[in-house]
Amino acid sequence: MTPNEAKAAVKMLRAVWAHQEESRRGKWRKRWMNQAELIGGWSKDPRTHVGCVFVKDNHRLMDGYNGLPRGVCDDPPVRWGPEEKYDWMCHAEASGVAKAARHGVSLMGSTCFVTHKPCSQCMSLMLNAGVAAVIYGPGKTSMPEQKFRITTIMCEEAGVRLEAY
Ligand SMILES: [Zn+2]
Repeated sequence: MTPNEAKAAVKMLRAVWAHQEESRRGKWRKRWMNQAELIGGWSKDPRTHVGCVFVKDNHRLMDGYNGLPRGVCDDPPVRWGPEEKYDWMCHAEASGVAKAARHGVSLMGSTCFVTHKPCSQCMSLMLNAGVAAVIYGPGKTSMPEQKFRITTIMCEEAGVRLEAY
């Protein structure tokens, strides 16, 4: 084998490895996003199902979905209605961060896979919890666009990766 042939072989091997690594990563991204969607399905909200999973080293640390806080009665329909919903509701990501605190799980350096782009309040909680990256699905909510714009700015300034799935 000539030096040039050896170089070409190494180059080809690197390309194969890069491709394998990329498809492995893509496979896991899909798996985690599928899990976020599954968890979101547990929400009793009649209109919006948001789910998330916090992952580190390909290990699921915590999950969350939108709903009323633990122990609060979620039967009265008025609590899910447009007038009061946002005063009663705990968002999926906020729920995940709170559950992690409850169970003594650190989210430091984790990636959040979430079905919807986080609002600025949830994003601020995740930033303070040390979440390093957020990958969000295409879900839409009725919340004002301003909250999602601020999320983008927060992540840019804090150096946290925010990526559409
Ligand atoms: Zn939120």
